[in-house]
Amino acid sequence: MTFKSFQLQPYLNEALAEIHFETPTEVQKKLIPVIQSGRNVIGQSQTGSGKTHTFLLPLFDGIDPEKEEVQVIVTAPSRELAEQIYQAALQLAEHAPKKIRVANIVGGTDKQRQMSKLKHQQPHVVIGTPGRIADMMTEQALKVHTATKFVVDEADMTLDLGFLSEVDQIAAQLPDHLQMLVFSATIPEKLKPFLKKYVENPVIEHI
Ligand code: AMP
Repeated sequence: MTFKSFQLQPYLNEALAEIHFETPTEVQKKLIPVIQSGRNVIGQSQTGSGKTHTFLLPLFDGIDPEKEEVQVIVTAPSRELAEQIYQAALQLAEHAPKKIRVANIVGGTDKQRQMSKLKHQQPHVVIGTPGRIADMMTEQALKVHTATKFVVDEADMTLDLGFLSEVDQIAAQLPDHLQMLVFSATIPEKLKPFLKKYVENPVIEHI
């Protein structure tokens, strides 16, 4: 099996060729078609399984660059993890025939600057830490009512670090008909109310 079988837009195949990804990993084989179908997903997978591209590829494939609005939001529990996803997303965006804007919205950076940048132009893709994303929403700098996909990466770590309430705050303001993708190494009891509240009828995959 190759990435070609997902029938992604040509620019995504070019991006994959550049980083020498030839064969999809197990999680990519199983979940890319599920995500393309629009289903909600709970993916129990470890880091190193290739899960970043599992969600980035189908989500990028579905972006309409003509619409100057937020379409995809991804949260990660630390700046470093958000940065890794951001870099992978930038690498894909570089190949897009029409500009796809990706914003890295994390704490510890100049808030005023971030706010004025967002007020000037909304990104298509938001990748960041829950607290700062929630902050930018409260400040009405980031307009998320147009989002169609929400990814919560490393949900168990997000819970452990005490950021699930911020993720909840974000999710509560997103449209009802939203594709939710939650990735977590484990599914602790304390995560279950969140999953029940926001992730309707998911495909649950253990990788
Ligand atoms: P991740 O689990 O997304 O952090 O990916 C773990 C590592 O595997 C990263 O260095 C990725 O760049 C790499 N990787 C992901 N998918 C593939 C693939 N299909 N072929 C080769 N390397 C991959």
